[in-house]
Amino acid sequence: MKITKVLGTLGLVAALAISAQAAEKKVRWKIATTWGPTAVPFSSAVTNMAAMVEKMSGGKFTIRVDASNKHKAPFGILDMVKLGQYEMGHSASYYWKGKDINLMPFTTMPFGMTTPEQNSWFYYGGGMELMQKAYAKHKVYSYPGGNTGNQMGGWFRKEINSLDDLKGLKMRIPGFAGEVMAELGLTVTNIPSGELYTSLERGTIDALEWVGPGMDIRMGFYKVAPYYYTGWHEPGTELQFLVNQKKFNKLSDANKEILRVAMRTAAYDMYTENYYMSAEAWAKIKTDYPDIKIKTFPKPVMDAMKAANKKLLAEKTKGQPMLKEILDSQNAYMKKARAWTILSDFNYLKDNL
Ligand code: CA
Repeated sequence: MKITKVLGTLGLVAALAISAQAAEKKVRWKIATTWGPTAVPFSSAVTNMAAMVEKMSGGKFTIRVDASNKHKAPFGILDMVKLGQYEMGHSASYYWKGKDINLMPFTTMPFGMTTPEQNSWFYYGGGMELMQKAYAKHKVYSYPGGNTGNQMGGWFRKEINSLDDLKGLKMRIPGFAGEVMAELGLTVTNIPSGELYTSLERGTIDALEWVGPGMDIRMGFYKVAPYYYTGWHEPGTELQFLVNQKKFNKLSDANKEILRVAMRTAAYDMYTENYYMSAEAWAKIKTDYPDIKIKTFPKPVMDAMKAANKKLLAEKTKGQPMLKEILDSQNAYMKKARAWTILSDFNYLKDNL
């Protein structure tokens, strides 16, 4: 009897071990994105990440991708991940500046770091730790989600020759850059990518910025607003993967590493793909889109943007120790990295124009 009992207990232990293994074998997650299903390379960064996770785990860890047309809440990603409605999200951290100002700088800052500078800050210069610290309050594990490179300053119906030309314009421009533009007298709004063209066409807005030629030209903005300005406001826009911290903690060590490797690889690939797309689109502008007028904001406008940026940042960081810590870290790192950027890339380009 005793032996049977022991065997029975062993059997139970074995069964539990097997069922635990089986439970760990299959992880089925969902990710919600701010983007529509065809917003390549933002959308493809997410599908690439999910495909890598599935392959690396031998099909034991899968992530279903729900684009914004499915969940209908393009700017609700942080809340959905926080509440566990989705295990993961893919979005841009500066969209949450109204909820938590400390999350804003992790996307990009006007007159801030370029992509290589920012990438090295994230992975080696303390940026990742600060991002984790800021998102810990929301019980979210965050990870760089792909960089667009330097973005264009946006599409305008009319040429901007002076500060007066900007005053009163309604513009879609998110992040801190929107606050800078508001300071210059614009009315600023944020609109999800799927509604951008109709908003511009119907006159709900007079101007907008989205990303760069690779993503912008196929959206058709040039048909309504042909003045295309060079960038100042998003020199290295990093998207973010957001993971519900509790769900992340429950993953096996192997799955955690699979997810991290997939996110990092997908993020790197998005940067590369967007660069390629912009180079390809740029090459066609002169021949295929002769009506697009490439412009740079006049110096007095740029000077006013810089002055407004400085003034607003000083106001913004008052009584915000964490925001100050993040921005101080970015600025201190940028100072070091910029000296190298100038010595290396800037000199090389200047001498080879
Ligand atoms: Ca943008």
